[in-house]
Amino acid sequence: LDKSDPVLRAEGMQKSFGGLVATDDASLAVERGSITGMIGPNGAGKSTLFNLISGFYDADGGQVFVDGEEVSGMSPHQISRHGLVRTFQTPRRLEGMTVREAMLVGPRPQRGESVWPLFLSPGKVRDEERANLARAEELLERFEISHLIDEPSTDLSGGQLKLVELARGITTNPDILLLDEPVAGVNPTLANDIKRFIRELNEEGQTFLIIEHDMPFIMDLADPIIVLDQGSVLMEGTPEQVRSDQRVIDAYLGG
Ligand code: ADP
Ligand code: MG
Repeated sequence: LDKSDPVLRAEGMQKSFGGLVATDDASLAVERGSITGMIGPNGAGKSTLFNLISGFYDADGGQVFVDGEEVSGMSPHQISRHGLVRTFQTPRRLEGMTVREAMLVGPRPQRGESVWPLFLSPGKVRDEERANLARAEELLERFEISHLIDEPSTDLSGGQLKLVELARGITTNPDILLLDEPVAGVNPTLANDIKRFIRELNEEGQTFLIIEHDMPFIMDLADPIIVLDQGSVLMEGTPEQVRSDQRVIDAYLGG
C-alpha cells in the first residue's frame, strides 16, 4: 500500500437506466486524509455514482480502486471489507431494532447479502462484534446521543438518525467513508455539530467523500470539491475556484 496513492479512484464510470444516461464517463480520485466534497444540481448523478462506487448498482462500464486494489464488480459487502463504506441519503429505519442493535448490523450485511460467514466463523464474528459494539458505544457518546442506545431506532428524529448512520459508518474504521447528504433535513444546530464531528474524525485521519446539497456547509467543510453535472465531472477545485467558476454557475442555473 502506497500511502501517497489516492484512497479511492474511479475511472470512466458509466450507467444508464433504460434510455437515461445517469453516469457518463465519470472519473475521480480521493486523496487520503481529505474531506472531498461532491456537489451538482438535482439529478446530476451524485447518488448514482456513490451506488456504482460502493457496489450497490452494477456499472455498465468503468473501474473502481480502493487503496490501489480493484473492487469493480464486487458486492457492497466485499467492498466494505476492502475499506470503503457509504451512508445513505435516506437512512433506513431498522424496524424492530434498538439503536445498539442497528449499530451492530453496521454497514453490512447489506441488501440481503450472504450471511454464510456468520455460520462459518462464529468465533471470529463474535470477537469482531464485541469490538464493534465498544467502538459504536464510544461513537454514540462522542456524538452526544448515547442516551438513545436502547431506544427503538424507529423513534429517532431525522437528525438523530443521521448521527447514528454516521456512527454506523465509522464503526469499522473504513479507509474512506462516503456520506450522501449528511445534513439533509437536519436542523442548523445539529448540522453544525455534524460538521464538527466530521472535522474531528478527519483530524484523526478519517478520509471522507461527501455529497451535500447545503452549499455553505460543504464549502466550509470540504476541499477539494468535485462538481458533477449530467453524469460527468464538470470540474474539481477549491471551494473558492468552484464558487467563481462560470460553468458551475451555469450548471446550477440551467438545472
Ligand atoms: P443526484 O443524487 O445528483 O440528485 P441521482 O444519481 O439520484 O442524482 O439521479 C441521476 C439520474 O438517474 C436521475 O435522472 C434519476 O432519476 C436517475 N436514476 C437514479 N437512480 C435510478 C434508478 N434506480 N432507476 C431509474 N433511474 C434512476
Ligand atoms: Mg442524491
